Amino acid sequence: MFSSILIANRGEIACRIIRTARRMGIVTVAVYSDADRNALHVKEADQAIAIGPAPAAESYLKAGMIIAAAKETGAEAIHPGYGFLSENPDFVEQVTAAGLVFIGPSSASIRAMGLKDAAKRLMEKAGVPVVPGYHGEAQELVVLATKAREIGYPVLIKARAGGGGKGMRRVDDPDQFADALAGARREAKAAFGDDRVLVEKYVEKPRHIEVQVFGDNHGNAVHLFERDCSAQRRHQKVMEEAPAPGMPADMRKAMMEAAVKAAKAIAYSGAGTIEFIADASEGLKADRFWFMEMNTRLQVEHPVTEMVTGLDLVEWQLRVASGEKLPLSQKEIRLGGHAFEARIYAEDPARGFLPAIGTLYHLRFPETAEGGAVRIETGVRAGDAISPYYDPMIAKLVVHGPDRGAALGALADALDHTEIAGSVTNVPFLARLARDPDFAAGSVDTGLIERKQATLTATEPASLRLKALAAFAASGARPATPAACDPWEAFDGYTHFHPLARDSRLGQGEEETVATIMALGGGRYDVAIGEAVFPLSDTSVEGRVARWPGHVTVFDGAVGYTFPVPDPLQRAAEEAGGGHSLRAPMPGLVKIVRAAAGERVEKGQPLLILEAMKMEHTIAAPHDGVIEEIAAEGAQVTDGALLVKFLEEK
Ligand code: ADP
Ligand code: ADP
Ligand code: MG
Repeated sequence: MFSSILIANRGEIACRIIRTARRMGIVTVAVYSDADRNALHVKEADQAIAIGPAPAAESYLKAGMIIAAAKETGAEAIHPGYGFLSENPDFVEQVTAAGLVFIGPSSASIRAMGLKDAAKRLMEKAGVPVVPGYHGEAQELVVLATKAREIGYPVLIKARAGGGGKGMRRVDDPDQFADALAGARREAKAAFGDDRVLVEKYVEKPRHIEVQVFGDNHGNAVHLFERDCSAQRRHQKVMEEAPAPGMPADMRKAMMEAAVKAAKAIAYSGAGTIEFIADASEGLKADRFWFMEMNTRLQVEHPVTEMVTGLDLVEWQLRVASGEKLPLSQKEIRLGGHAFEARIYAEDPARGFLPAIGTLYHLRFPETAEGGAVRIETGVRAGDAISPYYDPMIAKLVVHGPDRGAALGALADALDHTEIAGSVTNVPFLARLARDPDFAAGSVDTGLIERKQATLTATEPASLRLKALAAFAASGARPATPAACDPWEAFDGYTHFHPLARDSRLGQGEEETVATIMALGGGRYDVAIGEAVFPLSDTSVEGRVARWPGHVTVFDGAVGYTFPVPDPLQRAAEEAGGGHSLRAPMPGLVKIVRAAAGERVEKGQPLLILEAMKMEHTIAAPHDGVIEEIAAEGAQVTDGALLVKFLEEK
């Protein structure tokens, strides 16, 4: 076995690989870009090497830098994770030429499967059923359009170099073929630098079912059963499960045989996935599934296979790469129970699943769930950012239960107890999907999400009760961190307000909600919004509320309702009226100063930013005036220190 490996990846998969390596006593070396300097994978690894600026092309895709880092640290092998360099045969050759081991298949295997058209031709020869279509060399419009007519509409145009659902167009009508082809080519050229395409029969009521395969360098190949990844948006997986619901025994047997045959046809070594598409228009049938592509790497959704087989796929990868035989024979590999994985992304389902970015000020996952075991795979901690440079995945929530119903219940329950604030996420969408009656019945095809998009992405406005809770949490004049959320402490200690009743504001402008909070004593309060009064106690805000800069988020099941909170310091300044100085009501750091002594400023103009209690507060001018004195940038100020003094004007 290796004594040290380098992980050429980031995020959850880097952390995942480090975990197994550590358990096996292997030293781990991480690499990181400038954007990931403080990332979790850097912290978890035994050693970490900087490899370049944030864009992947200048860091995680720099083969030379990564190989040099491995040599420098004495790592014997490189694990590529998924994405980035994981399916790049030239990288494998460079790694090998440098005297290192690539933890994955040979460059020849990757090349054989790298282009979808060539892979299909190869599979056809090996006797594996392939989606009917044209995967030849010709690329002229007339040829492709003729082939499409022969195949029969609807057809799917696919980039031969495609991945991640890019460069794909469904065409229902011959009139649209030319436009769709041009679109697929443009997208393929931009994403993969290769605009060659293939044309396939569009399978009706398609189910995506894939088989985990494993080979070693001694000629052995096995399967680890199937995963169903039919829950997709924009041809990308969002929820996966194992085993596939409603899979007949004869179909499983035929599919597993086809998958092992495919792996053997390319003398495959390591972890791989054979993706099939099945026509489920009349239920799953042993003769209605076809090879789609092979992913020659560890798959994002590999944990569901681990949960139902009880095996560690990263351990198998390491063993096989170091020359060992496969740890188990085919008949020793067994299925147990049912598992789901939900991919939690920073994205906005209501806006076409638009990727989002943000700092995850609050991040909490459940440790247990009703009906099953929970496993979280993540590469971020509270306070970490989802940056625009990489995949916006926050975490994978994996559950395992004795049967599909129990596992699905556990999934819904776990999503209901997931709390993320600081960025929009797809958690509410995933929770709705987990409770969808068709999904629950196992009747999932790849079009389900699109057909039900409106229902699955609908948002309900926050109830008055939730607003009351949010206003109560927001009422702290002293901003609290989620862990020490005690707004009342602040209430008592802050003299700008009446000690027994005060107003708390949420939102801005038209959307503003004003709640009046009355302290009843004994840790009990009444929160009034208009005519409605909600009794709350100190413990009401525990757990399900997060305060973060300028906002408060209240969680109700899987949904987080976020409200902007007008800055209390600014409000205090405004309420103080024509005061001639602004003081710091708590110790903090003067982070940025935007105005200078002698300057004439207008009411509302930002003067400085005070960082206190891990939050930033913009201090704005409470009225028009001329500044006489202003705190220095970088100054550490104490409670009550002068921040801004205005000139007395007559
Ligand atoms: P899986 O097939 O393992 O479920 P995805 O298809 O979602 O995973 O892709 C896994 C990761 O690899 C994602 O980060 C995706 O962006 C990336 N990826 C997949 N294929 C390619 C490709 N051909 N080129 C670049 N990145 C890719
Ligand atoms: P990628 O490399 O982007 O993962 P795939 O060939 O694996 O490309 O296809 C991605 C998804 O597109 C599949 O999971 C499936 O939902 C859909 N798809 C692919 N081929 C077909 C087809 N012939 N008919 C219907 N849907 C398909
Ligand atoms: Mg695929």
